[in-house]
Amino acid sequence: MATILVVEDERKLRELLRSYLEREGLSVLSAGTGAEALSIADEASPDLVVLDLGLPDIGGDTVAIELRHRSSVPIVMLTARADEADRIRGLQLGADDYVTKPFSPRELMLRIRAVLRRTAPEGTEPRRSYGAGAIVIDEPTRSVRVGGQEVRLTPTEWGLLLALSGAPGRVFSRAELINRVRAHEFEGYERSVDSHIKNLRRKIEADPANPAAVLTVLGAGYRFGLPRDPS
Ligand code: CA
Repeated sequence: MATILVVEDERKLRELLRSYLEREGLSVLSAGTGAEALSIADEASPDLVVLDLGLPDIGGDTVAIELRHRSSVPIVMLTARADEADRIRGLQLGADDYVTKPFSPRELMLRIRAVLRRTAPEGTEPRRSYGAGAIVIDEPTRSVRVGGQEVRLTPTEWGLLLALSGAPGRVFSRAELINRVRAHEFEGYERSVDSHIKNLRRKIEADPANPAAVLTVLGAGYRFGLPRDPS
């Protein structure tokens, strides 16, 4: 599941986009200011940023430049100004596409999908294997095989496993995992991440007391411990 950071200072529009994108199966983080956007982008490494050009604190153009200094995250600009100079400027700033206000959520969704398809890194096959085949994750069928046996995960456990295994070795804080898997499923408590992780381990670890796949990083969070197999 791709995570989209929506940066828009108009609360109504921001909430509309959030609910629309979530219904489309995307995970959504949101920010109302440029400063907030940059700190969330640092913390959560979204897969794409939807960025309003007119923000109250630092302009969207400055935010785009800052984002580009830090990562190659794809950016779709929202602009109220339709004239060509602005469009070209937006694209020169490193935006991958732009949508002119007013737009329909569906139009934005199509742009997001197109940009994600275009920018998807090589080798992100839907079926991924880890630890010499110890764990095999097949996204389209939402199935997980552990030692060849299919295990059934709850949506939250599935979300946690996808987030962690998406970047083996990378440490995820509990707050970041809550964002990845959607805040409401956790009722906002970091402690509940631990109980979901415990359940996930019971299902996918040979020895849950001595995990090999989902590792605890003391004082930081969790990371995936198995290397990805060549596909
Ligand atoms: Ca605005």
